[in-house]
Amino acid sequence: MTMRAMLLRALGSLEENPEPLVPADLPVPVPREGEIRIRVAACGVCHTELDEIEGRTPPPRLPIVLGHQAVGRVDALGPGAGGVREGDRVGVAWIFSACGRCKYCRAGTENLCPWFAATGRDAGGGYAEAMTVPAAFAHPIPEVFSDVQAAPLLCAGAIGYRSLKLAGLKDGETLGLTGFGASAHLVLKMVRHRQPHSRVFVFARSEAERVFARELGAVWAGDSAEESPEKLAAIIDTTPAWEPVVEALKNLERGGRLVVNAIRKEERDKDALLRLDYPRDLWMEKEIKSVANVARSDVRELLALAAEIPLQPETQEFPLAAANEALRELKARKIRGAKVLRVEG
Ligand SMILES: [Zn+2]
Ligand SMILES: [Zn+2]
Repeated sequence: MTMRAMLLRALGSLEENPEPLVPADLPVPVPREGEIRIRVAACGVCHTELDEIEGRTPPPRLPIVLGHQAVGRVDALGPGAGGVREGDRVGVAWIFSACGRCKYCRAGTENLCPWFAATGRDAGGGYAEAMTVPAAFAHPIPEVFSDVQAAPLLCAGAIGYRSLKLAGLKDGETLGLTGFGASAHLVLKMVRHRQPHSRVFVFARSEAERVFARELGAVWAGDSAEESPEKLAAIIDTTPAWEPVVEALKNLERGGRLVVNAIRKEERDKDALLRLDYPRDLWMEKEIKSVANVARSDVRELLALAAEIPLQPETQEFPLAAANEALRELKARKIRGAKVLRVEG
């Protein structure tokens, strides 16, 4: 039995190779001990895939099937796999597995586990008709969401949720978002529900993103280098660049928190960091924290919250075979909501 997949065979920049993924027929994976197999229906496209392709967080082995926001139905159970049944609709997020024994896993911070394995990097992901995952790392998908709607919740939503948690935003406090892609637009929707008295300020490079932010309820949207009209209590940065980090620190109020939600930063504007001005940007107990991965609890809490709101991601669909096009648009920041590959049907 074979399946269609989009396969990453070699690393390189998208400029040099605009078609990094190649269509391939691969053997359908067989679930091992404790694993299930999923018939993938949809898989979200994430900026982290660009980081993998371009070598900033390279897969340890090639070729590999990318994709860590997969939704589909369980179609086979490996020996000893429990907790789900054939036919159940589940999702797989960035967390493919963690050791379960180290101090981080025991403390509920399995996202920091030194043996953390990532879906679609350390194990085959959802840019394919089928994939396997440990049963304990598959998440039931609430009925209210279609496959395509559910996909971006698994990373963009879950990591946005974790960022918001780390930002410690109290209702009524101001929040800034630098960059307005898949994750930030979901954070804005979450804030409007959970912190209804908080006003959200968006910093984005493209006018289209700024218009989109205002449509979704941002009180102000400006360019990434603009000064915010008032100092902000917390800022979540979802850009791949350094300049927005420096700008964000400037825009924070005393004791403000900056949460950097990026697995890697691109090198090209790193010298922006030399413009950091200690008294203006860091003093007065400003805090900086990065977000690393997601724990299963983030994914499950976000899915529950999303069903309750209900949090409907704005999505843009591509067929699986057009994965390269989706990645190129993401790189060019042609963003309106979340890009999702429709794998089946
Ligand atoms: Zn992701
Ligand atoms: Zn661990």
